[in-house]
Amino acid sequence: MDLAVVVSEAGADAGAGVTLARKVASRVEHLVIALPGGERGASPAADARYVVELGEAAAPEDLAAVVSAFAESHGAQLVLLAAQPIFREALPLLAVSLGAAAVTDATDLASGANGLVATRMLYGGSALAEVAIQRPRAVVSHDFGGVPADSTAEAEPVEPTAPSGVRKELSRRRLPSEASLKGARRIVSFGRGVRSKEDMAMITSLAKALDAELGCSRPIVEDMRWLGSDHQVGLTGTTVAPDLYLAVGISGQIQHLVGMRDSKVIVAVNNNPAAPIFEVADIGVVGDLYQVVPSLLEALGAAAG
Ligand SMILES: Cc1cc2nc3c(=O)[nH]c(=O)nc-3n(C[C@H](O)[C@H](O)[C@H](O)COP(=O)(O)OP(=O)(O)OC[C@H]3O[C@@H](n4cnc5c(N)ncnc54)[C@H](O)[C@@H]3O)c2cc1C
Repeated sequence: MDLAVVVSEAGADAGAGVTLARKVASRVEHLVIALPGGERGASPAADARYVVELGEAAAPEDLAAVVSAFAESHGAQLVLLAAQPIFREALPLLAVSLGAAAVTDATDLASGANGLVATRMLYGGSALAEVAIQRPRAVVSHDFGGVPADSTAEAEPVEPTAPSGVRKELSRRRLPSEASLKGARRIVSFGRGVRSKEDMAMITSLAKALDAELGCSRPIVEDMRWLGSDHQVGLTGTTVAPDLYLAVGISGQIQHLVGMRDSKVIVAVNNNPAAPIFEVADIGVVGDLYQVVPSLLEALGAAAG
């Protein structure tokens, strides 16, 4: 493959993306997206580096429009996007406008006999699938974390491209409760062990009683849609390292553990003694959360929601 374009947010590590793109493409260009209020940090050394500034009301459509125009004008066969929320939303729009194959959450890329082969996780990370890409172009998302940037090369500015106008934004409002997990000293986090949205009230009460932020596993955000993505801890959420991480009804799959295992004290409540969360827990409570959480609230002198 001749050219891959790596797309990442300004200030975020994209070194792993560039390294991965180099495995399959002879040239790698790096498009840095400066979102409003974002940082301007180091960027990895690609063959060329471009920066585009998106305005205050930047939406996935704006991102898709600029990346699509950039990929078209440079003749890129692969667009490798960081797996961050705005990029994830832009990915299908981008794939449609480029007529490209779309692969989300890839863990690896390789050049196969008939083109690009992407590896991606299935079934919550318990299986890996190899996907042979059968189109001349592909848009792939990947978690770029873990490899630090290795240069601060100057970037050439790119003019934003207007979106195609398939959707019109009528209004925009900020959701009232935004979690600030980064830097939190205490986090009470819950997962699919909590059976209903109403039962979240007792977890919220526990967080309040412990003066803790509320965190959760990915299914609570993506499948149940009970909380926004700013509450999600893990590989594709926020990485946290509080003094206390209390995990309630979370199994402890690797994608969750990588986001919280550096916490000072980890307390886990789970009714399955074999749950992987117990491997990283300092204190493990094997029990039904519907009994343990009310007991904790009682001991703390707090009401259950
Ligand atoms: C590319 C990729 C990225 C991902 N990124 C993330 C990420 O950033 N963050 C993340 O969290 N996940 C992520 N995941 C998903 C991850 O693999 C798991 O599917 C997810 O973490 C499981 O969430 P859970 O622990 O809430 O649910 P489950 O795995 O279903 O676990 C629920 C747990 O609750 C326990 N339980 C049930 N009832 C009770 C009860 N009454 N009392 C006590 N315990 C009970 C069960 O024993 C079980 O251990 C990602 C997956 C992929 C493929």
